[in-house]
Amino acid sequence: MEEKELDALRETLLYRQKQGYDVIDVAERIKLEEYAAAYRAYLNAARTEREAVTEAIKQAEALGFVPYERGMVLEPGTKVYKSVRGKALMLAVMGRETLEHGANIAAAHVDSPRLDLKPIPLYEKDEICLFKTHYYGGIKKYQWVAIPLEIHGVVTKKDGETVEVVIGKDPDDPKFTITDLLPHLAKDQMAKHGSDIIPGEYLNVLAGSIPYAGEGRKRVMLAVMSLLNDRYGITEEDFLSAELEVVPSFEACDIGVDRSFIGGYGQDDRVCAYAELKAIFDTEMPERTAVCVLADKEEIGSMGVSGMQSRAFETFMEDLCEQQDVRLRDCFANSFCISADVCNAYDPTFWEVSEYPNRNGARANYGVGICKFTGSRGKSGSNDASAEVVGKLRRIFADNNVVWQASELGKVDQGGGGTVAQYMANRNIDTIDAGTPVLSMHAPFETVAKFDCYQTYKAVWAFYKDR
Ligand code: MN
Ligand code: MN
Repeated sequence: MEEKELDALRETLLYRQKQGYDVIDVAERIKLEEYAAAYRAYLNAARTEREAVTEAIKQAEALGFVPYERGMVLEPGTKVYKSVRGKALMLAVMGRETLEHGANIAAAHVDSPRLDLKPIPLYEKDEICLFKTHYYGGIKKYQWVAIPLEIHGVVTKKDGETVEVVIGKDPDDPKFTITDLLPHLAKDQMAKHGSDIIPGEYLNVLAGSIPYAGEGRKRVMLAVMSLLNDRYGITEEDFLSAELEVVPSFEACDIGVDRSFIGGYGQDDRVCAYAELKAIFDTEMPERTAVCVLADKEEIGSMGVSGMQSRAFETFMEDLCEQQDVRLRDCFANSFCISADVCNAYDPTFWEVSEYPNRNGARANYGVGICKFTGSRGKSGSNDASAEVVGKLRRIFADNNVVWQASELGKVDQGGGGTVAQYMANRNIDTIDAGTPVLSMHAPFETVAKFDCYQTYKAVWAFYKDR
């Protein structure tokens, strides 16, 4: 056979992934950069799940979405949203077809690993005042020391009033930090196992050091509490009914000489949350009803009223179905869900955690990662999407020039993880994981490739308009 024929045969028979930047044109690159800028802005506006929901509602309302109310008229093209207690969000654009034919659902999460203040957080030791924290989600605790931090959240007072607290975001604000040991005295610390280098009880946030004038005990703590009282009208007891989250104080920014990456906190999974949002914002009059879910509590098991296991989702969907005399179970049976959560990006520095050579791990700039299965060891805890489900996505992506790749979380037996996919599938909804590959996942500063962010958006957009 001639060389040309062999090439043609190779092209036909063998699967070859292409570098993203080799397959897009200038017009697409411009769109990609515009998308990246809007995404960075969203990331900066949303440091917590509450802020992610608030910002999403703000943008949605500007585009004609209205709060869903029982009894309202839902016509094809009607745009509604339902907030789950301000911590999770569901949006829908009603389709031309009734919900009996199912909905196209994309589900991401907006909670991210962080440090929560304990219910009684403040204490003073040796004339230094600190906040005790309890970490949320899977973190490498040593990464959270010696970096600038902010405190975001709410305090609900005894009278029922809820005060919003944000310290460290405004340029005039002070920030926070957790101290680490100097290397000169870290002989014992450095000999420890990674998870013990900084024990959980050492994640204490520096709060202040100037004592209240006068005599007696806890003078520094009193002065700190007094400043908080001036600013928020709260007392120490009010911390008992508060949700105060200590988050990294990093503005999202471009990374690399060529600016091809975005660095920032909370990109797992706000990178997919934003992709879904932008996709549903760009969806007018779809064939099937498009549903965007921004869930809370994924990082700790999707429990709780705002997590993906909550009946809040059924309630919303059932409300929409009722209007059309459709049974929820019929709607779910015919629905399709993209569990839009990030996947691991192959890291050339830590190549050894991937299979060698790497064929199944997602790579930066190769597009949205489709994860047929997650889980650990023998796929334990995985949704494991069927061939038909993956095939459907392949068709949608091919029809819409979505650049995508397969993604497996590291080599077999190296570790594992999960997403909300299993909880959607439990509802008898065909579900598959798809999301943006991330470097340094769960670190205070995570990195993604702009190209992959944009392809994640395109993937969800193409999915929403499919029938
Ligand atoms: Mn995630
Ligand atoms: Mn995660």
